[in-house]
Amino acid sequence: MKDSQELKENINTDVCIIGTGIGGLTTAYLLTKSGKKVTLLEMDQVASGQSARTTAQISYEIDERYDYVSNRLGKEIAKLVADSQNAALNKIAEIVKTENISCSFEYVTAYLYCPPGEKDDLDSELKALHEVGLTETYISEESAVNCFRTGRNIVFPKQAQFHPLEYLKALREIIVNKGGQIFTSTKATNVESSGNQVIITTEKGNTITANHVVVATNSPMNDRLAIHTKQAPYRTYVIGAKIPKGSVNKGIFWDTLDPYHYIRLYEEKDHDVLIIGGEDHKTGQSDDETEPFVNLEAWSKVRFPMIEEVTYKWSGQVQEPADGLAFLGKNPGDDNVYIITGDSGTGMTNCTIGAMIISDLINGKANDWETAYSPSRLSVGGAETFIKENINVAAQFTDWVSPGDVKSENDLSNGQGAVIRDGLLKLAVYKDENGQVHKCSAVCPHLGCIVDWNNLEKSFDCPCHGSRFDAYGKVITAPTSKDLEKIS
Ligand SMILES: Cc1cc2nc3c(=O)[nH]c(=O)nc-3n(C[C@H](O)[C@H](O)[C@H](O)COP(=O)(O)OP(=O)(O)OC[C@H]3O[C@@H](n4cnc5c(N)ncnc54)[C@H](O)[C@@H]3O)c2cc1C
Repeated sequence: MKDSQELKENINTDVCIIGTGIGGLTTAYLLTKSGKKVTLLEMDQVASGQSARTTAQISYEIDERYDYVSNRLGKEIAKLVADSQNAALNKIAEIVKTENISCSFEYVTAYLYCPPGEKDDLDSELKALHEVGLTETYISEESAVNCFRTGRNIVFPKQAQFHPLEYLKALREIIVNKGGQIFTSTKATNVESSGNQVIITTEKGNTITANHVVVATNSPMNDRLAIHTKQAPYRTYVIGAKIPKGSVNKGIFWDTLDPYHYIRLYEEKDHDVLIIGGEDHKTGQSDDETEPFVNLEAWSKVRFPMIEEVTYKWSGQVQEPADGLAFLGKNPGDDNVYIITGDSGTGMTNCTIGAMIISDLINGKANDWETAYSPSRLSVGGAETFIKENINVAAQFTDWVSPGDVKSENDLSNGQGAVIRDGLLKLAVYKDENGQVHKCSAVCPHLGCIVDWNNLEKSFDCPCHGSRFDAYGKVITAPTSKDLEKIS
C-alpha cells in the first residue's frame, strides 16, 4: 500500500504507533474512533510485514490449545483467553460490518483433525473448550475434507476468513479520514521515556514526542532482551494451488501435527485456490529454505489429487511465546509504552485483542484480559519451552567459532550469499546478479548472534531472535532497527 509520506520534521502527538500491520492499524483504528490523535510510523510501506503474508484464518482456537493453557496456566486464564479470542473474532466481524468493508470476509467452519495413527488428544481439548465456554464445538468422526480421510476432528462452527490487505487498506483510509497521520519509509530507531512523555527517534534523526507509544513491529524493536527470551521466531511456508471450482469443501483445516498444516480456500472467478501452509522451523536454522516447498507440495498432492498447478509460494515469520499466549499490553517497566507481540499463527485475533486491551488502557479503562496477556508475566507455565528455546539461542553463539558456509567469495555464484570466515571475523557476503560482491559484518546488531543466509528470501536471518536483513545488510524485520555493519 503506497502513497503515505516520509516524516521530515519533529512532531508532537497523543499516541504514536510504530508498525502498520494488523496490530498497529487495529490499535490506531480503535483509538481514532475514541477521539485520540494517532500517528503511525512504518519503516517500509503500510501493511508490508507479516500481515501481507498471512493466510488470514480467523479463529478462537489457539495454537497451544485450551487443554494446555488450562493445565499450565489455570482455568481462569484459559477462560479469559477464550473470551478474548472469541471477542476478537466478533470485533473483526463488527468492524467489517459497521465500516462496510469489502474484504471477502465470510464465516466458515473450522476443523482440527487428528490424522490416522497420530496421538489423539481431541477429547481432552474438547473438554477444555467446553469448560472455557466454547460449547458449540463438537467432535465428528466424519472426514473433515471431502477428498482424503482426515481422521476424527473437532468442529468449530462460525469461524471466519477474509482478505487481510483489503481489510487493512480500509482501516488505513478510516484512520486517515479521521485525522490520523501515517508516515511510511520512516524507521523508528529509539524509544525513550522522558518525564510523562515518550520520545521516539527515527533513523533520519527526527523525533516524535507522544503521551503514549504502541510498539507493533511484530517483534518489539524497543526491547533488547526481556521479551525476546520469552518468545522464539519461526519461519513458516505456504503454497497456493489451482484446483477446479468446488472440488474441495469450504472450511479452515488444521491437523494436530507439530509443526501443523493449515489449509483454507480462496475463490477466484473460474477456479479455487487451495492455500496450504506448514513446515515451520526456527528462523536462521535451516540448510535449505526451498525444501519446505518441496515437502508441502508433495504432502498436498497426495491428499488433494485435484491440484492442477502450484501457482503461489511464499514464506513468513511468526513469534512463538514460551507459554503459548501473546504479549499484549504495557511494556515491562514502562507506564506509557505498550507492545503487541508473540502472536503465534493466530495473529488475526491476537493482534486484535492487543488493540482492544491497549486502546482501553490508553483511554483509562480497565481490561479484564490484561492479566492473561501481560508482557511482564513470568511464563512459568511454559518453563520447558522457555529453557529449550534459550538453550537453542545460546547454542547459536558457537557460530562465532565455526567455519563459514563457503571458503571464499569465489565459491559463490551470482545471486547467492553466504557467511564467510575472514580471520577472526565472520562476514555476510552477497554476490549480486552482476557478480559484484557486497560484504557486511555477519554479527546481528541486536544481540551479537551470527546471521544465516536464507537462499529462498535472499536475506540474512538471525537464528537467535529473528532479525532479518536483505542481501545488502539492510534491516527488513525487527527486533533490531539497525543494518548490518558494512565492510569495505
Ligand atoms: C505465512 C503466515 C501465515 C499466517 N496465517 C495466519 C492465519 O491464518 N491466521 C492468523 O490469525 N494468523 C496468521 N499468521 C500470523 C499473522 O499473520 C501475524 O501474527 C500478524 O500478521 C502480525 O501482525 P503485526 O501487526 O504484529 O506485524 P506485521 O504485520 O509484521 O507489522 C509490523 C510492521 O512493523 C514495521 N516495522 C518493523 N520495525 C519497524 C521500525 N523500527 N520502525 C517502523 N516500522 C517498523 C514492519 O515493516 C511491519 O510493517 C500467519 C503468519 C504467517 C507468516
